[in-house]
Amino acid sequence: MATASSRYARPARHQVPSPARRQVPSPARRRRDLKAPMSWSADVGLCLAGLGLGATTGIALTAETHSELTATGGLAMFAGNLTALVGTYLALMMVLLVARIPSIERAVGQDRLVKWHRRLAPWPISLIAAHVLLTTIGYAQAAKTGLLRQVGTFISSYPDMLAATVGFAIMTAIAIVSVHAIRTRMRRETWWTIHLWMYMALALAFMHQIALGPSFVGHPLARAVWITVWLASAGLVLGYRVGLPLLRTFRHRLKVTAVCEEAPGIFSVICSGRELDRLDVSGGQFLLWRFLARGIWWQAHPYSLSALPQKSSLRLTVKQVGDHSKALSELPVGTRVMIEGPYGAFTRHKRRSRKIALIAGGIGITALRALLEDVTDKRSQPVVIVRASRAADVIFKDEIAQLVKNRHGRFHEVIGSRSEVVFDEETISELVADIAVRDVFVCGPEGFVTSVARSLLRLRVPHEAIHHEVFSL
Ligand SMILES: Cc1cc2nc3c(=O)[nH]c(=O)nc-3n(C[C@H](O)[C@H](O)[C@H](O)COP(=O)(O)OP(=O)(O)OC[C@H]3O[C@@H](n4cnc5c(N)ncnc54)[C@H](O)[C@@H]3O)c2cc1C
Repeated sequence: MATASSRYARPARHQVPSPARRQVPSPARRRRDLKAPMSWSADVGLCLAGLGLGATTGIALTAETHSELTATGGLAMFAGNLTALVGTYLALMMVLLVARIPSIERAVGQDRLVKWHRRLAPWPISLIAAHVLLTTIGYAQAAKTGLLRQVGTFISSYPDMLAATVGFAIMTAIAIVSVHAIRTRMRRETWWTIHLWMYMALALAFMHQIALGPSFVGHPLARAVWITVWLASAGLVLGYRVGLPLLRTFRHRLKVTAVCEEAPGIFSVICSGRELDRLDVSGGQFLLWRFLARGIWWQAHPYSLSALPQKSSLRLTVKQVGDHSKALSELPVGTRVMIEGPYGAFTRHKRRSRKIALIAGGIGITALRALLEDVTDKRSQPVVIVRASRAADVIFKDEIAQLVKNRHGRFHEVIGSRSEVVFDEETISELVADIAVRDVFVCGPEGFVTSVARSLLRLRVPHEAIHHEVFSL
């Protein structure tokens, strides 16, 4: 294990003199200071979601009269309506979880929202499938006919049922490709494109619900509220996933001005644009970047800022792992860039104690480098630890050295392969004796972050003082 604060003074072997060096922001520059996230917004969102679920169940339970319930097929129809309403309501919640609503996104973080979205996913699709089955059984019992014949009657004679059937087929296909074993075998972009069809599926199913749902036919108030909730949700999705990114892209007019090698296989991309110091961003956040270059223009990938924005430039630093990250090293100067974000809750606003420690696994140093820059308080006495297999993989040594020096901190490198060097609670407590009283920010690959978080808990760092960002969603 090599740990030495003096080592950071040595220039990295593979670094080339680059414009990135010259563009490191000076601490004196003025930048829009992002307000602390509204931590209560997630609680308010959760309360509203719970109330909505209660109201939805309520309108389903009160939709049928006693005589309708006791009629032939009545019970199955009632259960079909209940599962339809609760299922589509949960589908709406799933969509809203990933609508990138800034106040919620900043308080909770996209990684957690995506996790909740995934956990919720099996419920709406199962409930909607139960609705299809139960409603068909109910109507078939009432009409004293077979299930298949009833399906045919639905499609040929009921308004908007053909569209709803297509919508259900799309949802089923998405559910199948989202099964972990299938999803991990597909190209991420293919899965992503199929997954976006969920919006179409929900839109197709919506009309039949309004035209035929027992809770809405003859109940104008419930109908008006349901339509308003769905239209408002569509507005939020369009506004935050399409409108705001387009607005930011046009406002800042980013284009690539330089690409420079930081270490073998690691490149910084410098983008210039307008009013970038007005971008609402905290150190540690990431953006979704779409570089309008041949072969990759259709892909948007998450990369953290590796420095706080300057007035007219942004820097991201990328390790080559696959087709997109490899293509970035060859981006032509002048390539136009579209951005979504900034996103993420991995920021200085999570800090609860004065002192901090920052632990990076490999390329995770990008987000931590920007976060360190954003913590200007000298009393934070940051301890920065970078874990890498090879010394050459540790980037930004000089910049981090300068930043920790200004904040009366320390910088350690832990170098060596996993078989040679164990990075556990013993190593951490050797490097940061007072780790239990610090806020600890950990960033890097999933396995690294999980194992460091476990070590920190064993070192009695409170759960609320451990903040992490994993470089995969
Ligand atoms: C919040 C966040 C911040 C990140 N910041 C950085 C950074 O500063 N520097 C850096 O080098 N890397 C960063 N990454 C990782 C980076 O997004 C992936 O390495 C990159 O997208 C890989 O794409 P690829 O086509 O080159 O490789 P692929 O072979 O397509 O993917 C390799 C792995 O990267 C992940 N990945 C791929 N596409 C995406 C996507 N659209 N969204 C999320 N994960 C994806 C998956 O885990 C995948 O298994 C970050 C990831 C996240 C989630």
